Amino acid sequence: MHLYDQQHIKIYNSLSGQKEPFKSITEGYVGMYVCGPTVYSNVHLGNVRTFMSFDMVFRYLKHLGYKVRYVRNITDAGHLENDADAGEDKITKKARLEQIEPMEVVQRYTVDFHNILSIFNFLPPSIEPTATGHIIEQIELISTIIKNGFAYEVNGSVYFDVHKFNETNDYGKLSKRKLDDLIHNTRELDGQSDKKNPQDFALWKKAEPQHIMRWPSPWSDGFPGWHLECTAMSTKYLGDRFDIHGGGMDLKFPHHECEIAQNEAAKGQSPVNYWMHANMLHLNGQRMSKSTGNTVNPDELLSGDNKFFSKAYSPSVIRFFNAQSSYRSVLDLTDDGLLASEKGFHRLMDAINLLDSISSTSTSTLNVSEWKQNCYDAMNDDFNSPILIAHLFDAAKYINQIKDGKASITSEDLKLLKQTMYAFTFDVLGLQNESKKESGTDKLSAAVDILIKLRQEARANKDFALSDKIRDELAEAGIQLKDGKEGTTFTTN
Ligand code: AMP
Ligand code: ZN
Repeated sequence: MHLYDQQHIKIYNSLSGQKEPFKSITEGYVGMYVCGPTVYSNVHLGNVRTFMSFDMVFRYLKHLGYKVRYVRNITDAGHLENDADAGEDKITKKARLEQIEPMEVVQRYTVDFHNILSIFNFLPPSIEPTATGHIIEQIELISTIIKNGFAYEVNGSVYFDVHKFNETNDYGKLSKRKLDDLIHNTRELDGQSDKKNPQDFALWKKAEPQHIMRWPSPWSDGFPGWHLECTAMSTKYLGDRFDIHGGGMDLKFPHHECEIAQNEAAKGQSPVNYWMHANMLHLNGQRMSKSTGNTVNPDELLSGDNKFFSKAYSPSVIRFFNAQSSYRSVLDLTDDGLLASEKGFHRLMDAINLLDSISSTSTSTLNVSEWKQNCYDAMNDDFNSPILIAHLFDAAKYINQIKDGKASITSEDLKLLKQTMYAFTFDVLGLQNESKKESGTDKLSAAVDILIKLRQEARANKDFALSDKIRDELAEAGIQLKDGKEGTTFTTN
């Protein structure tokens, strides 16, 4: 019996606008795709928030025993400025400004992205495909869409025919937009004149002579449209129809709307059962965004080296802050909010650290099984992490009461409480016990101090063979002793 047979998740599906019971296509397996970063600059905390929300979803699904294939791409080609069909490729532009190869830009910011995610204790996705690694698949998709009558070629570029598509399908069903309204609201922009209609979007663009990232295709030397890569890569690894597709709210239109249209046009079916959209991180009441410069990068918050916040915050405090609001709510990053989260996080960790030292009796004053189910109910309700955290705080209070002799717990319940606290705090929320890490360092200091004393005794007894052995073997273990006027100290590498 798997946990997922007992715990039934409901997911808010952006497509229906409702919370729906989650049922995976293949029992026990979940296919999940999340739009990854465009690697042309350092990720900001807004980007991190979206990926963190889906890391939590991934973690919870795994915790329930699902075998999850989590695909998160790297956009390393095809994403033009202003997310439009005209203008320069974001990566090529950065390469031109810095006078380096586009692939150097891609490498630099992919490495940065991975470093940041590992600092925040993200689980790596199962597959991390790149757009440039899937050009052939994208060309094949375009050929199919043309063959099915939903795309046309003009001057070496290929566009998706939104009007033709809308005759038989519903363009706008995800973002709840009507094509008529879109027509009404669209201005004709420079460079779009090849299109039959301004709403049409590029599947393939002919490269201008100065465009470096280009590939041969039946239509021209060029590059694929941004929306196409996600259709090509998600369906390649997860099938023509898969369980969950996620991304930030800002990607709902046009990016995800176009993904649906491309898939329906190429494969005759909607690609995704549950569309999940994470809400935006704000800074000073405004959306954090690269284009407006209203951003804080993770390293600036972690080091405290920024103009917005009073101090440095640890990765787990930032994770905790994020989990204290629902992934579907706007979250405003403020110093007060982070300070409060820091306090709360330490309160929770202190309680967890007490679990090793409290003793059990013959009765429990809290129904621990019921409390445990409350934790699951919170996460089953569209991954409601703030409610889960409220339950974890209830347990923290209970643990403190037990310590103070004001409450009691049986040994069986203590085991259950400990298991559940660990599972939700560390496995599901992905927090790390930083105070334990510190006390780990303290323990190392205490142990090395004992060895330093033994070495002093050996020297006093003129047993230099032993004193050297202690020094050399510690050095081999990466601990260097340093004899100074004030006594012996140590450093680690
Ligand atoms: P990009 O690299 O611009 O394609 O963005 C990568 C991801 O970050 C996308 O899923 C965006 O929706 C998401 N994102 C961008 N800005 C924010 C923000 N302020 N808050 C939350 N997510 C964001
Ligand atoms: Zn995408």
